[in-house]
Amino acid sequence: MRTLFLLCISLLFFAGCGVKQEAVPQAVLQQPKKESLATVEMLADFGIEKNESVRVVDTVVVHTAYSLEGEPYEPKNLYNVFKKYSVSPHYMIGRDGTIYKMADENDLAHHAGKSRMKDGREGVNAFSIGVEIINSKTDYPTTAQYISLANLIIDIKTRHKIEYVVGHSEIAPERKSDPWNFDFAALYAMIAADTKHAKRDTQ
Ligand SMILES: [Zn+2]
Repeated sequence: MRTLFLLCISLLFFAGCGVKQEAVPQAVLQQPKKESLATVEMLADFGIEKNESVRVVDTVVVHTAYSLEGEPYEPKNLYNVFKKYSVSPHYMIGRDGTIYKMADENDLAHHAGKSRMKDGREGVNAFSIGVEIINSKTDYPTTAQYISLANLIIDIKTRHKIEYVVGHSEIAPERKSDPWNFDFAALYAMIAADTKHAKRDTQ
């Protein structure tokens, strides 16, 4: 019986090794500290619809993006790409974990485009907050980015009743493949430590 138990544990261990372990070190799974949240303003005057009334938000959409012009991971370069296409997230997270605020949460930001939730609701921009993680298709989000994103979502939850944390590809599967190389299980483990409301809107 004891041998069987040890075998099961061993199998679990080796099965776990197959998951992108190099991208999400175990240390990431510690509960993030809300007090550590700090943002840098890089406000966008494009891709945003100012909203005077209170906007009801229940979803956070996670994206990845990088700049094809200049240094791909330079936040200002990506800001200029967004400007060029008149789109904007509410927040952008740099490789070092710095959180850049681009839009007020109460304003509608154009980050998801034509999109649909599993429950049938379309036009996800109307009821979501968009977060762009600076990352390429061949790279992984950094540990600092996972920690900042988890802190940010926990912070957002103090202002909005967030029911869903989804990837862009989940709400626009025919057009989008981001967030690339993103470990949602790790993110959910981190935010679940603070709240039990996190769940994924899977297709
Ligand atoms: Zn996206």
